[in-house]
Amino acid sequence: MFASAIVSQPGATGEDRGGPEFENAAKKNSVLMNSLKWNWGKTQTGWYLYVPLLKKTLSTGADPESAEFAGAVARWQIDQGEAATGILDRKTLFLLIGHWQSQRIDPIYEAKPTSLLSAPIAEFYDRARARSLLKVDREAYNAYREMLAEARKDLFPRENEQPDSENLYLKIISSYRSPAYQAELRKKEPGATRAQIAFRSPHFTGRALDIYVGGEPVSTKDSNRAVQIRSAAYLWLVENAERFGFYPYFYEPWHWEFTGKRLMTEN
Ligand SMILES: [Zn+2]
Repeated sequence: MFASAIVSQPGATGEDRGGPEFENAAKKNSVLMNSLKWNWGKTQTGWYLYVPLLKKTLSTGADPESAEFAGAVARWQIDQGEAATGILDRKTLFLLIGHWQSQRIDPIYEAKPTSLLSAPIAEFYDRARARSLLKVDREAYNAYREMLAEARKDLFPRENEQPDSENLYLKIISSYRSPAYQAELRKKEPGATRAQIAFRSPHFTGRALDIYVGGEPVSTKDSNRAVQIRSAAYLWLVENAERFGFYPYFYEPWHWEFTGKRLMTEN
């Protein structure tokens, strides 16, 4: 590891290292990561499915079981005016969720027909998708195209390894859904999860895109999400989407919302 090189750099603060004061917190985190009980629609176990998002928000590349990660949790807790325990317990998890949720489209409105365009079917995961279901908010679509071009460059830096158009990663699964269409979906799948077929869906705006990040496209099963959060496509989105104005719905690795608020970070 390069930790010693990093902490010896001028300007590195004591808190950055994690250090022995966070060893106990790290031990607790390594248990909570897989066992913390919390509720989101149904009972959830652990926070391991959110590790990429957590690392991004906490500005750390450290392993979630490390003292360094606990140190990053503590720094974030201080920023929130909380006690710096370094332990990612239920309270801290919900503060983080609150932060993620605050970045989403709010309020949800219904797209004006004039703000929507019909995206080419080639942009979609399902090439047989009904022609009436290809609508996307114009600005969101332009931002998506920009993001896609950048993602392709980063994920496939060598020209000869660029994926062909059959590569499904980052293609659009679903974008604009009208309230009427959403109601129909709900009738067809009464057992579907609350978030997937919400009464008031951000998909009404045309600015929420479900983007293919691997596995079953839109299944919230933990085993499926565990596959998705390891995909290069998902990890790229976590790292970069906000530069293009897209923010995640933490619970659904495929669901990204364009809020237009672009974070212009240089890297
Ligand atoms: Zn969605």
